[in-house]
Order: sequence, then structure tokens, then C-alpha cells
Amino acid sequence: MQKLQVPLRTCISCRRKAEKKHLVRVVACKDDVGAGEGLSGRGAYICRNLRCIAGALKGRRLAKALKGRIKNLGPDDFLRVIEEGGYRIDAKY
Ligand SMILES: [Zn+2]
Repeated sequence: MQKLQVPLRTCISCRRKAEKKHLVRVVACKDDVGAGEGLSGRGAYICRNLRCIAGALKGRRLAKALKGRIKNLGPDDFLRVIEEGGYRIDAKY
């Protein structure tokens, strides 16, 4: 019997691998950043917790993952983008 393959993605912040459904997908669209599975463009994945979301902005990890096509983004702006993408963030981390 064939094993069911679950696609794993790596969080750009903590480098842990997880199923897509446990992660936030962020996408570069022109100079801006969007969040959501349905968006097209170069995407990156981040765990759904505040630590990883804030961590993605440090050391330009997000900019590197999205090939630098983002403007300066603060943690609050980034969180708003992610929530607008329909994600619920676990604030316990
Ligand atoms: Zn993470």
C-alpha cells in the first residue's frame, strides 16, 4: 500500500517543518505582502504563533524568503496582514 504523503513546509523563522495547514502562507505581491493560500506569487511559510511571526521580520528572513520584494514592515502591520488573510494566530507563544 502506498503511504499517504503529507506535504511539509519549513517555517522561515524557526526552520521547523510542519503541514501547510498549521502554517501561515505569506506571499509577495509587487512591493506588498499578502497572506493566504489562494494568492499567487512567491510564498513563504511561517508557524502560526507570534514568536515566529515576529522572528520572520528579524534579520530580514522574510525579505530573503520573498526575494526582498517587500517594504519595511513592522510586527503589527505584518500581524494585520496575516489576520486579514483569514488566519488565527496562537498568541500563547
Ligand atoms: Zn516557526
